[in-house]
Amino acid sequence: MLEQPYEYSARALVEPDWRRLPGFADVTEEQWRSAQWQRVNCVKNLRQLRGVYGDLLDESFYADVEADQAGRATMSLLLPPQMLNTMVPGEVPSTAAMLADPVRHYMLPVASDRLDGPAASHPYAARDSLHEHEMWAVEGLTHRYPTKVLAELLSTCPQYCGHCTRMDLVGNSTPAVPKLKFELKPVDRQTAMLEYLRATPGVRDVVVSGGDVANLPFKNLEAFVAGLLEIESVRDIRLASKALMGLPQHWLQDDVVEGMTRLATTARARGVSLAVHTHVNAAQSVTPLVAEAAQAMLAAGVRDVRNQGVLLRGVNDSAAQLLDLCFALLDGAGITPYYFYMCDMIPSAEHWRVSLAQAQTLQHDIMGYLPGFATPRIVCDVPYVGKRWVHQVAEYDRERGISYWTKNYRTGIERTDEAALDRRYTYYDPIATLPAGGQQWWAQREHRAGGWIAAAEVRAASSRAASAADLLN
Ligand code: SF4
Repeated sequence: MLEQPYEYSARALVEPDWRRLPGFADVTEEQWRSAQWQRVNCVKNLRQLRGVYGDLLDESFYADVEADQAGRATMSLLLPPQMLNTMVPGEVPSTAAMLADPVRHYMLPVASDRLDGPAASHPYAARDSLHEHEMWAVEGLTHRYPTKVLAELLSTCPQYCGHCTRMDLVGNSTPAVPKLKFELKPVDRQTAMLEYLRATPGVRDVVVSGGDVANLPFKNLEAFVAGLLEIESVRDIRLASKALMGLPQHWLQDDVVEGMTRLATTARARGVSLAVHTHVNAAQSVTPLVAEAAQAMLAAGVRDVRNQGVLLRGVNDSAAQLLDLCFALLDGAGITPYYFYMCDMIPSAEHWRVSLAQAQTLQHDIMGYLPGFATPRIVCDVPYVGKRWVHQVAEYDRERGISYWTKNYRTGIERTDEAALDRRYTYYDPIATLPAGGQQWWAQREHRAGGWIAAAEVRAASSRAASAADLLN
């Protein structure tokens, strides 16, 4: 008998022993299960990181983290102990093991991970690469798709991911990225969102996000969702929280479970589908506590808990890693694998991104192992378009790494744009993954444009949603 390309085996979830880390050696089970303790003991700086790992890690590692924070980092450090504990889960971490660890790779970036010099960023990389702000119907409410909206209720999270798509707005400023700030007070922003939705019955689906809704006082989240539930036209509500994995203790608190039970009961009575969406990228992050939090939400009555991961080089860019993660989610935690997004074209993310061709191969290679309803679609979030399944590409120049996409609806800013549905929209592979001819073409273009990052005219053109054709010919 020949082996399958992927051999499935049921695996029990494991909570790594946090006492193997010097800074958590005396932490009790009760403390560990406390959301408040987790929040108070988050790592936000080098001093606190040293406090957790001490001499286990070489000075060179700390210097690498420090150099990244002072240099290219687009997100500041914020790591709950729960999340740190899933790095190098089965052993006492060494420097080499930390550098190789997939969770560390995206949650605790180091300067040596990034590509050198201008290659660190794609010439078309941009803050707010999905142009969500341009599509704000009211502050924080992105109306991109015809029937659904994204409500950004806040700009903080309990954990900060190095590759965050909303790096423009979310988190603290870093030396490389001064963050934008909401102007309206939270209560006024939420009122404006609810008013817009009451006046826009064509919207039936609301993603309540941020940031991460776990950072909202629960009574504020409950008030907003209760407001949504009173709008007749809203049929789907999805609460977005990576904290279900990064800080599951939050979702296990009595007041949160009781509040979610109230919301889910009302949603069911009104025939509205209320779900929780989380963001897990590596199988080792799915621990018994994560499963407990997911089960608590399902027991509270939400219709589903789903995962939207991000496809990241060095984290989950093999079929085996993706399938291991999906089975851990599905078998171990009752979380439905839903999407893997290709990493967006934010600055300094080239070392995390994979090519469209690789994403297509991965989609092919994960088919047939999971139930159909839990087989995630790998999608490219194409600027000014939205999610497209990776095989939906209209044309693909593999040598130059340029893919061309079409769409079948107008975004909120194209209601009077007659050409919107005829235009082709572009997405770009990481240049370092291209064949020599493609890399050379971009290098020549760099020469013509006068530098990778200085290509302000490129970004301006991108902001006008122009097809790349006029720039590339
Ligand atoms: S949890 Fe989501 S919004 Fe928050 S930093 Fe991570 S990717 Fe960004």
